[in-house]
Amino acid sequence: SGKWARAMAVLREFEEKCSTPIGKLKQVADAMTVEMQAGLASEGGSKLKMLISYVDNLPTGDEKGLFYALDLGGTNFRVLRVQLGGKSGRVVKQEFDEVSIPPHLMTASSEALFDFIAAALAKFVAEEGEGFHPAPGRQRELGFTFSFPVRQLSISSGTLIKWTKGFNIQDTVGQDVVAELTRAMERIGLDMRVAALVNDTIGTLAGGRYTNQDVVAAVILGTGTNAAYVERAHAIPKWHGLLPKSGEMVINMEWGNFRSSHLPLTEYDQGLDVESLNPGEQIFEKMISGMYLGDIVRRVLCKMAEEAEFFGDTVPQNLKVPFILRTPDMSAMHHDTSPDLKVVASKLKDILEISNTSLKMRKTIVELCDIVATRGARLSAAGILGILKKLGRDTVKDGEKQKSVIALDGGLYEHYTKFRSSMEKTLKELLGEEVAANILIEHSNDGSGIGAALLAASHSQYL
Ligand code: ADP
Ligand code: MG
Repeated sequence: SGKWARAMAVLREFEEKCSTPIGKLKQVADAMTVEMQAGLASEGGSKLKMLISYVDNLPTGDEKGLFYALDLGGTNFRVLRVQLGGKSGRVVKQEFDEVSIPPHLMTASSEALFDFIAAALAKFVAEEGEGFHPAPGRQRELGFTFSFPVRQLSISSGTLIKWTKGFNIQDTVGQDVVAELTRAMERIGLDMRVAALVNDTIGTLAGGRYTNQDVVAAVILGTGTNAAYVERAHAIPKWHGLLPKSGEMVINMEWGNFRSSHLPLTEYDQGLDVESLNPGEQIFEKMISGMYLGDIVRRVLCKMAEEAEFFGDTVPQNLKVPFILRTPDMSAMHHDTSPDLKVVASKLKDILEISNTSLKMRKTIVELCDIVATRGARLSAAGILGILKKLGRDTVKDGEKQKSVIALDGGLYEHYTKFRSSMEKTLKELLGEEVAANILIEHSNDGSGIGAALLAASHSQYL
C-alpha cells in the first residue's frame, strides 16, 4: 500500500543519511587526529578538550596495600576495595558494591549528590571484613573515578567543566569535585583521603596497563563515550609545567564532544540534540553511546508513525516520550533470533504499548536498530583509528611487530554484541590486514575501578 511505501521511504532516507563508507570513516579519523593536535596545542583550541590528567606514570605492578575506589559516571556508581600485593601478589583480594543513583539527585544540588555518595561509601567501609583493614594509624586512601569533563589542577584535585549524560547540577560546575566529596565525607564522619582523581578512561587505561604492558589507549562505550591515551609530553604544546621524568602524559580526550562536518548527522540527531539537556554539545556521544541509541530509533519510528501511519491511523502516544526506548531494549530487539521475532513484539507491547504488529513490521524495526547501531559502531572504529594515527601506530614500519592494545570497557561494548562485532570488524577493515595484526582490542572488565585504586596507590601519602 501507499502507506507502507511511505514508511519505507522514511527508513531508506534515514539509512542513506547514516551511511558510513570506508572513505567517509577515514575522513572522520583524519578529522579526529587534526582536532587532537589542535586541542593539545592550546587551551580551547578544539572541541576536543584533550585534558591533561597529571598521570605521567602508569601502574608497574609494584603497587601495594589496601586502597579504595569510587566510580561515578552514569546511572550507577560503584565502590571497591582492593588489597594489592606488589609484583608477586598482584590483586590479592577485592570486593565491590554497586548503588544506583536516584534520578532526582542527578539534577538536584551538589551537596545532596555528594552526601548520598559519601553515605554509600561510609556504609561500604563499615562492612570492611578480614584482610581489608588499613595498617594501624593509616588513613584510608581512595581513587575517585569521576567520568565527566574535569580541568585537573593536580592528580588529586580538579574542577568540573560541565555535566553530561543526563546530570545537570549547576552549583557543581566550576567546583573542585574532590573538595565536594571530601566535605561530604567530613559531614558524615568518614576519614578518608582522595589520593587520585581520574576519569574512567584513565582508570581503564591504568587497569589495562597493569595487566598488559602494550596498552596505549582506552575507550569507554557505556552511557556516554570517551577515550584516553598516552602522549609524549613534549608533543603537548599547551603543557607549560616541568616535563615528567617518564616523558609521558596521559590525555583524557573527552572525545564525546567531537564534531565534524564529516559526521553523518540526520534530522533525528538534530532533534535529539536540541531537546537534550546539553544542546550543541557531545555530538559524537549522541550518535554513538548507550544513553542515546535507543532514542534515535524511537525518533525514526515516531516519524514513520506520523508520516506514514506505520502503526495504524493514530500515533502511539508512548512513541513521543523521550528516552522511553532504552538501548538495552533496542539491543534485545536487534538480537532477536526467533522466527516470529517475539522479542520485538513483546518490547513493542511492553514499552510502546503497540500490539498486533506484523512480522514484516517487526523485521523493519530490527533493520532500523541495525542502521543506528552500525553507524555508532563504525564511527567508534573511526575514532580509534584517529588515535592510532596520532600515535603513528596506524602503519607497519619495516615489518615491525610492536603490538598496540586498546583497552575497551562500558556496558554498550560489553553487552551489545552486534555493536561490538561491527566496531571490531570495521577497525580491521580500516587498518588493513597487515596493520590489524598488530592492533588488539582488549575488554578491560571494570578496569577503571582497579585502575583508580592503582593510581591511588602510586600517589599514596605514605610512599
Ligand atoms: P556508565 O557508562 O554509566 O558508567 P556502564 O559502562 O555500565 O555504565 O554502561 C551502562 C550503559 O550501557 C547503559 O546506559 C546502556 O546504555 C548500555 N547497556 C547496558 N546494557 C546493555 C545491553 N544489554 N545492550 C545494550 N546496551 C546496554
Ligand atoms: Mg562507567
